[in-house]
Amino acid sequence: MITIEEARTRVLAEALPLAVEERSLSDAVGSILAESVVAPHDVPPFHNSAMDGFALLAADTAGAEQREVSLRISDTVPAGHRARVALAAGEAIKIMTGAPLPEGADAVVEVEVTEEVGDRVLVRREVAHGEHVRRAGEDVTRGTTVLAPGDRVGAAEIGIAASLGFPTLRVHRRPRVVIVATGSELVEVHEAIGPGQIRNSNSYSMEAQCRELGVFVERLGIAPDEYEATRALLKQGLSSDVLITSGGVSVGEFDFVKEVQDDLGVERRLWRVAMKPGKPLAFGVKDGCLVFGVPGNPVAAMVSFELFIRPALLRLMGHRRVLRPVYQAVMHEDLENRHGRVHVVRVRAWREGNTWHASSTGPQGSGILRSMVNADGLVFVPADTGGIRAGDTVEMTLLREEYREA
Ligand code: AMP
Ligand code: MG
Repeated sequence: MITIEEARTRVLAEALPLAVEERSLSDAVGSILAESVVAPHDVPPFHNSAMDGFALLAADTAGAEQREVSLRISDTVPAGHRARVALAAGEAIKIMTGAPLPEGADAVVEVEVTEEVGDRVLVRREVAHGEHVRRAGEDVTRGTTVLAPGDRVGAAEIGIAASLGFPTLRVHRRPRVVIVATGSELVEVHEAIGPGQIRNSNSYSMEAQCRELGVFVERLGIAPDEYEATRALLKQGLSSDVLITSGGVSVGEFDFVKEVQDDLGVERRLWRVAMKPGKPLAFGVKDGCLVFGVPGNPVAAMVSFELFIRPALLRLMGHRRVLRPVYQAVMHEDLENRHGRVHVVRVRAWREGNTWHASSTGPQGSGILRSMVNADGLVFVPADTGGIRAGDTVEMTLLREEYREA
């Protein structure tokens, strides 16, 4: 058996960013950039007004609090237009937010401190040079590298690409994942359960874990615990980037997944991880396809996905950072661990001041899926320590981005 860390290292050693493709801005969110984006022009492209008001010469407003400053309105510029005249001393040009600053003007006064009287405007305060003017290039100067390879494409990145005139971005393509459930006891979610049968939940929970990452995922259905049937579905799945099977990977008489993996030429990179749940994990590679055989117990399947498959998928997508942050948390109960395996406990987590706290989500059997429902995070109780006491500090990762206060 190997440690969680060693297992993850071996998985990530096989996971390289996938090929690059061009994707439209509308479809690029969540992907990872494979190119630099260099500004072909300034943003904003021209000096413009930050307010609705009047463009003027700041010097004309000197002492405006003490004396009446009255300027002749020589033109009006809406956004998207240019002033028809240049501004001369003693004049103002009515201007809207985003409209180009007229030639000759050096400041804008907001409409709220002015009063329009006929073709003149009274300005009631002194205006500083450059006030309320957004200068050309103040956001981005032409030639600046605004995005770099490896950057995650989020809403702001897409916005800046649009402002610079890039309708598409070159990003790493999304992995295609195939999920196969194994087990003669399984029926699909819409089917009635007969004697000895249960519903396949793993395909759906792991499909959802995939979807949360934005990868393509397909469920290939259920293989009964028969060699040929298992082989046929696994063979089909090998044409994807990642093939996940659940169940059939232990040492039971009808567990065929490892044998079938071998038969199909999957080169094993690891087998069995020192953790609970999730010990029987068989991972290997075949012609660029990452092949994961996770155990069938519903929590074991999800935890194995979380700890190994998720980082691998992120790496295939081109992410540089693939691991969740690890926090120190105060555990609120005793947790025994007499195994030589790390106990991965599903916890409710909350924050008091600057400190994380955690308490388990109830019974922690590897088949008790309710322990995952409402779990905010995972706590790692070290192996061979006998366990921890209430009040001890433990390592924790969070499964959600939002958290609760106390
Ligand atoms: P296995 O790893 O095949 O020995 O399965 C371990 C346990 O998980 C057994 O009780 C199975 O019935 C259950 N199990 C296996 N596959 C699934 C699945 N797809 N959905 C829900 N439970 C499963
Ligand atoms: Mg089974």
